[in-house]
Amino acid sequence: MRLSVVCGSIKGVRGAPTILHLDMDAFYASAEQAAKPSLRGKPVVVGGIGPRGVVATASYEARVFGVRSAMATAQARRLCPNAAYLTPRFTLYRQVSEAVMELLGRLSPLVEPLSLDEAFVDLEAGGVEPTSAAVRAVGEQLRRDIRAVTGLSGSVGLAGSKMLAKIASEEAKPDGLLLIEPGTESGLLGPMSARVIPGVGPATAEALRRAGITTVAEIGEAGEAELVRLLGKAHGAGLYSMATGHDDRPVVAERDAKSVSVEDTFEEDLTDRTRVQLEIARLADRCVQRLRAAGRSGRTVVIKVRRYDFSTLTRSETLRGPTDDPGVVREAAARLIETVDTTAGVRLLGVGVTGLADYTQEDLFAQAANEAAEALARTPDPEDAAAPEATGAEPVAERPRRWFPGLDVRHREYGTGWVQGSGVGRVTVRFEQPWSAPGRVRTFAVDDPALEPGEPLPLVGAGDQPPGPPAEPSSPEDGEAGEPALPGPSGVGSVSP
Ligand SMILES: [Mg+2]
Repeated sequence: MRLSVVCGSIKGVRGAPTILHLDMDAFYASAEQAAKPSLRGKPVVVGGIGPRGVVATASYEARVFGVRSAMATAQARRLCPNAAYLTPRFTLYRQVSEAVMELLGRLSPLVEPLSLDEAFVDLEAGGVEPTSAAVRAVGEQLRRDIRAVTGLSGSVGLAGSKMLAKIASEEAKPDGLLLIEPGTESGLLGPMSARVIPGVGPATAEALRRAGITTVAEIGEAGEAELVRLLGKAHGAGLYSMATGHDDRPVVAERDAKSVSVEDTFEEDLTDRTRVQLEIARLADRCVQRLRAAGRSGRTVVIKVRRYDFSTLTRSETLRGPTDDPGVVREAAARLIETVDTTAGVRLLGVGVTGLADYTQEDLFAQAANEAAEALARTPDPEDAAAPEATGAEPVAERPRRWFPGLDVRHREYGTGWVQGSGVGRVTVRFEQPWSAPGRVRTFAVDDPALEPGEPLPLVGAGDQPPGPPAEPSSPEDGEAGEPALPGPSGVGSVSP
């Protein structure tokens, strides 16, 4: 194992590997494979399925063909024409995410979620003995618990800093655990690609490569002055600091924070405007979910955009009163992103709410009603001067019933299943459940009155479910599958941590 290479420890890192980073493996795609028995072991691509769609997650079977996150779905189809191309089901992913976050919350009061399927945990703050053996045991138990509760696998990294813990979980993938022993950090990191350092994306990597720098060790050897010359002051200095291991960023729990924000870095720059808008809406929802979980509300909505060239800007809008209404935050974020030119490519997007206050539930309901009826006040930002006037968010068009591949359906006679495909007036449904054997396919007219949209089924069956499926799911059943095994519906978030 490469950890046996000992080359001294680096500063700004704890003496014990008590920072845990969890990252679920190919999260959306794995959830779909767990939900759809016929797709297990097969290439699955989750993302936008339209002509301008982008891949959100590819299963490991699809990655073999070169399919990657943020790749145009059209390109993915060329690389892997036989994969199942599915629309994301965020309701399900959020349910699984809540179950995972709840397990993390049992380990420590300091849990910092980064996305639906990724978080840092400060095990020392949770009272775990600061020894490698103790934290490893906690990490292994966590992986077993996640498997039992969600049916999915997650990878765990354990190290003395956030950066190293995240690198460790990446190295551990899929379905593994890697602990970086204190004292072995620089030996492990040195030969790795510069790309493992947070903030080094394709553009920076290319700038470094042209200067002959491809590994972490070479970043350190180049020295701070050279990196500043290559990449500019802020980015160059920050990169040097990270590459030489100076990372003492604490794990920050949400309820202690003065703001709640979520952000995503994309493997490849986003240029598709629709995708950018979609990601902003998704981030706004996640942000509100966290806000509510912490029992807070906030007055100022902030978006963060890092462009392909690393220029980073924020835009904010201050509301008339604090809110935790997802619609209000989503609309404010949508207005803000309209004022930013993203045509050249975006590598990171974030949405945050600041100016936090505790709230009472009654106030909120009254306020949400008011806010829905009235236009929101807007704090102009000097950089916004040239922006178009505060436009109302576009009305969400009422969607005609369309059977998108991957979505849940219920048939009066055949029970629950999912849309495998549709076209020329027909829709093909595969009738199977997470706990069943691969099911049969049947085709209907798109307007068949016996067919209606369904709800996601829990991936791990409730205790009273039959362990085995009916071999042929043709008996008339109403498809009830019992109560979901996972915690309640997402977005309610009334339970404070
Ligand atoms: Mg993941």
